[in-house]
Amino acid sequence: MKHDIWRFIGVLFLSSLVGIISGHYSLSLIAGLLLFIWWQYREFSKILFWLKKRKEASSPSQTGIVDETCREIDYLRDRNKSRKKKLSRYLKRFQEGTGALPDAVIILGEHGEIEWANTKAQDYIGVLWPKDAGLRLSNLVRYPKLVRYLNSSNSELEKGLQITSPVNLKLVLEIRVSPYGDTQKLLVARDITEISRTNQMRKDFIANASHELRTPLTVISGYLEGFVDDPQCPEEWVNYMQQMRSQSIRMQRLIEDLMQLSSLEAKTVKIEHDVIPIPDMLLGVSNDAKSLSGFMNHDITLNADQDLYLKANQQEIHSIFSNLVFNAVQYTPERGRIELNWYEDEAGAHFSVRDNGLGFAPEHIPRLTERFYRIDAGRSREKGGTGLGLAIVKHALARYDGKLFINSDLNKGSLFRCDFPKSHIIHADNKTKNSLSA
Ligand code: ADP
Repeated sequence: MKHDIWRFIGVLFLSSLVGIISGHYSLSLIAGLLLFIWWQYREFSKILFWLKKRKEASSPSQTGIVDETCREIDYLRDRNKSRKKKLSRYLKRFQEGTGALPDAVIILGEHGEIEWANTKAQDYIGVLWPKDAGLRLSNLVRYPKLVRYLNSSNSELEKGLQITSPVNLKLVLEIRVSPYGDTQKLLVARDITEISRTNQMRKDFIANASHELRTPLTVISGYLEGFVDDPQCPEEWVNYMQQMRSQSIRMQRLIEDLMQLSSLEAKTVKIEHDVIPIPDMLLGVSNDAKSLSGFMNHDITLNADQDLYLKANQQEIHSIFSNLVFNAVQYTPERGRIELNWYEDEAGAHFSVRDNGLGFAPEHIPRLTERFYRIDAGRSREKGGTGLGLAIVKHALARYDGKLFINSDLNKGSLFRCDFPKSHIIHADNKTKNSLSA
């Protein structure tokens, strides 16, 4: 900066001197200034030329403001270079890290185009990075189930998807897509072949074991019934026979429930879409509940929207309703109140069972739908419960995207409510009613 001022003063002095000597003072001053401006312009042109070359060549060395500008640019270039090095080191480490991941990771852009993928993405999904960059995943992997999943809502995406790998039929993958950045999505595919095989083995075992046990038990139960009813059966044996008979009935119930759970879990069982007149079904369930209540004399009331029907599997819906209603009877003391409601609101259709029975502490609620989870195992067995009722309700409801809501207060009573989405509702008109009753 100092150099430039001195240079400028020098030019002024020299041109003034020449002006005084030549007698053309103003002209000489203008000529001097123009010369100075031209010289500065040349210096800046040199910098521009140096910058345009983008090479490592040293900057045009000068003194003054031009030199300072060059040095500042040099400094910025150096800083940028070291930042770039640092960034590429991080990038390399990140790529090594994601390469070592056991899962496939793909970053998808706003329209499902591939923005980045790790090496496992090729083995699991057939996406090769960087060759497939910019391609839409749904065009590359023509797998209807996956395409449908990728286009689904965020709540569906959260649930994940299990599919066979499109490039290796031996692999079972769990795919999960989550929002990433502003508009991107992060797809992670996990190999769950082993877990799914063990799960399938467990399901097959339970289904086969219950099936195999059913026939011998039916035979034993039949003979025991015969013995109990036989007048020739010795008096002292009758009591034992009756106990054996009631235990064999309990085992039969257990096996039936296990088989029902297995069939609900089996993906091959397809949902049949019957139109079910729910009010009629509930009337039957409430009458059955009254007979089960018997001398316990519960006050059972039913309020049902007479036009609200469901599109679902008859047997599964009956099982949901009867499990909840029979539980209310079993866990509500004599003369207790049980209210059944079937209604619709903006969220969908609901069936609620409210009782003023034993209830339970709220901490049990999250575990209540687990298989064999009972609050009081002794009481459940004594009432003939299998510990599988609520697990069946939960699984059956899930097949209709339904949810089970539970609320309870110890010694005050409980509320069990099934929430069905609108998609399964049928509003029955007279024609539907007549055709179903015909
Ligand atoms: P269980 O065959 O034992 O009734 P469930 O799966 O139907 O099996 O129910 C699990 C447990 O939840 C029961 O053992 C009972 O402790 C509790 N439970 C279910 N319904 C009610 C209810 N209406 N009132 C109080 N407890 C209930």
